[in-house]
Amino acid sequence: MAVSDLAEIGISEEMGAALEHAPSGACVSWGIPYEIGQVAAVAHEPLSLPLNPTAAQWLVFVHTSDRRQVMPGPGGFISPMRGEGQLGEHAADYIILYEDGTEHTIQIRRRFQLGAFQRRWGEACFEAVAHRKPRTQRFAHEQLAPNWGNLLTRVHAADGGPWVNWLWAWHNPHPEKTIVGLRLEPVSGIVVLSAISAGAASDQPLRWQTRHKACLTLPDDETFCPELDERGLLQQIQLDMGQVISASPRLHYPNDSWTDTHNNQKPEQSDTQVLVEYTAHADAKFHLSDGHTIPVVQVEGTQPPPALQPVPPATRRVTLRAVERHSGKCVPVKLHVHGEWGEYLAPLDRHRILNPAWFEDYSVDFVHGGTWYGNVQHPHSCTYIPGETILDLPLGEIYVEVSKGFEIRPVRTVVEVTADTKEIVIELDKVLPWREKGWVTADTHVHFLSPMSALLEGSAEGVNVINLLASQWGELMTNVGDFDGKTTWGSREAGGSGEYLVRVGTENRQHVLGHISLLGYSGRIIAPMTTGGPDESALGDPIEVLLTEWARQCKKQGGLAVLPHFPNPRAEFAASIVSEKIDAVEMTAWGNLYGGIDPYSLSDWYRFLNCGYLVAAVGGTDKMSANTAVGTVRTYARLAPEEPFTYDAWMDAVRRAETFVTYGPLLDLTVDGHPMGSRIEMPASGGTVDVTWEVASATVPISRVELVVNGEIQESVAVSPEAGSGHWPVKVDRSSWLALLVRGHYADKPEIIASHSSPVMIAVGGSPMLAAADAITILEQIEGALAYLDSVGTRAEDVAYKRMRLVLTSAHRSLHNRMHQHGTYHAHTPVTDHAEHHQAPE
Ligand SMILES: [Zn+2]
Ligand SMILES: [Zn+2]
Repeated sequence: MAVSDLAEIGISEEMGAALEHAPSGACVSWGIPYEIGQVAAVAHEPLSLPLNPTAAQWLVFVHTSDRRQVMPGPGGFISPMRGEGQLGEHAADYIILYEDGTEHTIQIRRRFQLGAFQRRWGEACFEAVAHRKPRTQRFAHEQLAPNWGNLLTRVHAADGGPWVNWLWAWHNPHPEKTIVGLRLEPVSGIVVLSAISAGAASDQPLRWQTRHKACLTLPDDETFCPELDERGLLQQIQLDMGQVISASPRLHYPNDSWTDTHNNQKPEQSDTQVLVEYTAHADAKFHLSDGHTIPVVQVEGTQPPPALQPVPPATRRVTLRAVERHSGKCVPVKLHVHGEWGEYLAPLDRHRILNPAWFEDYSVDFVHGGTWYGNVQHPHSCTYIPGETILDLPLGEIYVEVSKGFEIRPVRTVVEVTADTKEIVIELDKVLPWREKGWVTADTHVHFLSPMSALLEGSAEGVNVINLLASQWGELMTNVGDFDGKTTWGSREAGGSGEYLVRVGTENRQHVLGHISLLGYSGRIIAPMTTGGPDESALGDPIEVLLTEWARQCKKQGGLAVLPHFPNPRAEFAASIVSEKIDAVEMTAWGNLYGGIDPYSLSDWYRFLNCGYLVAAVGGTDKMSANTAVGTVRTYARLAPEEPFTYDAWMDAVRRAETFVTYGPLLDLTVDGHPMGSRIEMPASGGTVDVTWEVASATVPISRVELVVNGEIQESVAVSPEAGSGHWPVKVDRSSWLALLVRGHYADKPEIIASHSSPVMIAVGGSPMLAAADAITILEQIEGALAYLDSVGTRAEDVAYKRMRLVLTSAHRSLHNRMHQHGTYHAHTPVTDHAEHHQAPE
């Protein structure tokens, strides 16, 4: 049938929408030519296709498939968890017909030989490759304009290019007299006069005034357009005797109810009003796209035109301090200040115009509402200050937001600035005593910041430990000079307070097999940090080391092995967990403050808990730009009793899995008095355990507290937004794991899983902790990693290749043997003998 006819056979809406992009005609992929005329859809009926007789050595199938809906069950959890790509699912059989009447049947399985027409990140095929081959891409400065770094300054001095004419304004002492001519007399050298312009000006026409702001209302039929013309100027709004610095839709904050709104709550954005920042001569005029002009300064005594409202200038220099009320100490905080027109007011040494784009700008700012591509949608702009800062403020009311993590109540307050205001002091209250009870917080995953910037952001967000991860991205190496395998920035030994720490580790990555964060290890950097080609590694890099091996090396060097942004990329980590090389799985936020802990991540983690692999949960942001605040989702880990806080003590707490992950609400959980991460033994008769819990929140309001047992919600209770506690007697008659899950949300946002504990595991005598359905998905995932290594993965030299095969087959065997020991029924799959023997399925 024709590709366009696919629309009629019941494909998904998404696939229908992508049809127009389906390749057709004469194509070449990976250097292999083929022709797409008609397509064959394998849906309900068998199809017979005649082929031109050929005795080929290889047949290359160019195929794809529709998406398979993943159906989350109760609580949003997916079980059995095969991922969105339905790893291992049998999709079709391709039967090769030979001239002699014999046949050969090929099983086509998802994520092995066949993928979907669109896929979730981290769900590549193990034996197939996407039709466009990997390629290099140019640096931005090679693509756009030279000197990319310099573009970040956003300014250009006056110049003239290869020919400069100089403008000199002469103030005529006799303006009442008529000028009729000019005589030029040479004295030395050559002078070229090109033009003379005569006119009136209220002051030196070449001197502009200081920066001002105004609110411009666009004509009825116009909306704001950020497009620039060929000179780099806004098309819609220009100035003659001056320059527009920035123009952006006016932001509407709820100034009247400011103190009742929540931390980081974003403003609305106007469609019709534009906040213009400019510097200009007093006689300058704005020129609008419809030919309209508006003078920047209104004639004394006249009303300003309704289209242009002046915004009070920021002229009052004020010191702002953030102070802990109980100690009087000035402390690092996150700060946002805006004026009555919604204009962001930055400290003198911070950006006024924030850049959220990936790897473009990693100064100490946070722009909530920005994207990695650099655009912003009703952005909320913030910065981090060490406790005291200087700002230029307008007279009148300003709106201040100050926050410092999850244990201190965030402040939104209104301050009146007068001609006498010299200092503003914001007092902060510590309301939740989790730190006092031995808990410390951590972000397991931050990129690009310098260690000192990370230390400031961590202390200002109340994150005790920042793990700054060096890595490789194609041909780009980041933070590699910051790695020394020993220094913990902020520690007492390094001259810090010891309360906030930054440690440089590495994120080692493979685009199909997966990523692994190696935290806090000592000694030499574990390299290569990426393998196997794009998009994580450089073209031509072989797969020469596995996640499991990176993890083993990291542990040897005293570090922690964490699976970041779990579960993607979804492949080899199954072997790493089964080989017991993994300390924790990471729940990841990126820039999303309100997404919560993803049931997709939890579903995947639960599979391993169901099979008895106790791996801690940690929280990390994977911050790669100013659109992400460190600690948006964070790890709480409890130090051993009486143990002083050090980076090593924190690593020990994660190893014990005495952790929870949170977007705001804090929790505690014990099972028969045992903390999170414990293993409890019970006789074969089982028994009842006492589950005791406590929750509290100074930020995201809590709605429900739930008990998860073996991946299912067993108890659920509504609690007040700020705090709750309780206990449940829980009957245990088979080996089980228990964890606490907290739901919550801000009033203007949907409910999310706001925090989740690591589990307590109970082994009941004679009852194996091994869920067959989950174990099979784990085995299939390891088989996938093997298939990739054996088929399309760039091959390392033989010794490395064989060594890696052995790592994966041993992991496969260890779980497989457990299944046999416990007599768990399962069908065998062929892949453990994959490439070498081409055996038929058992
Ligand atoms: Zn990653
Ligand atoms: Zn990362």
